[in-house]
Amino acid sequence: MQQASALLASGKLVAFPTETVYGLGANGLDATAVRKIFVAKGRPNDNPLILHVASLDDALPLWKINAVQRVRLESLVSKFWPGPLSLVLPASEQVPGEVTAGLPSVAVRAPANPVAQALLAECSFPLAAPSANVSGRPSPTTADHVLSSLTGKIDAVVDGGQTQVGIESTVLDIGAEKPRLLRSGTISQDAIEAVIGPVQRGGEIDFAPSPGLRHKHYQPQGMKLYLVDKAALAAKWQEDVAVICMASTAVNLGERVAPLVTMPDESDAYAAMLYASFYRMEKFGAKVLLIEKVPDLPGWEAIRDRLSRAAES
Ligand code: AMP
Ligand code: MG
Repeated sequence: MQQASALLASGKLVAFPTETVYGLGANGLDATAVRKIFVAKGRPNDNPLILHVASLDDALPLWKINAVQRVRLESLVSKFWPGPLSLVLPASEQVPGEVTAGLPSVAVRAPANPVAQALLAECSFPLAAPSANVSGRPSPTTADHVLSSLTGKIDAVVDGGQTQVGIESTVLDIGAEKPRLLRSGTISQDAIEAVIGPVQRGGEIDFAPSPGLRHKHYQPQGMKLYLVDKAALAAKWQEDVAVICMASTAVNLGERVAPLVTMPDESDAYAAMLYASFYRMEKFGAKVLLIEKVPDLPGWEAIRDRLSRAAES
């Protein structure tokens, strides 16, 4: 942790685990260091970053908020922090324009992962940290995933094993009069509404200033990915295509020769394995990947969102 924080303090890039996915960290108050994140990832400059802090106390100086926003903030934080909820509010002067992509607001969250917390405790600054992958690729949930796309482009990775949640944080804008969900995650709209009342959904769930960005997310390399229902999957079961499906479906359909990854029937466990299943299929060298559609139920919303962005439309 001391080595990692020393690298970060000197403007270097260090990947580290959070409970969602691995983040590519830089000193979030150092514009030059933050610019290196965009270069390493090949990330479009107009895609803002999330700042990671240890606690609400460390978050407050990053925002410029009024009394109403403060009340909302405190009720959400007391329920969901540390955890996978990024909160967007007007940015203070401290926050470099490189972090916000020129927007007047900034997203901040306190990760629950103990390794992330230990690293933040060593740092006297917030960590700007998007997912630690080349832009467009699946988010990494192990240190190996990070190295598979960022070797040679970053200065270090802190290996904290497999991440717990597996998909990116919920992003919620609480600056406007009516709070707005910008990206779905495992903290659901229902759970948020139970705390602060009605929440609007953006027409676009993920904030994507540059057109086309939405559909190029989370894609495994070198393969075309299709979402299919059980019947379509059954019809193709013995063909030479890779398949990711529910364990229960695989049991019904029987043995197959081509690559198969089976997934848990429960949404949290499924989310935790989602990107690892993509990286595994890359290792198999699959060209066509069929993924069984997931249940059309509330707990699966964030997973449906990630799958639909990764798939051919
Ligand atoms: P990631 O790529 O996982 O680091 O997530 C960053 C995402 O958080 C962006 O692509 C936006 O969807 C969202 N985000 C971050 N900062 C802001 C902001 N100031 N306003 C709106 N959305 C934001
Ligand atoms: Mg990302």
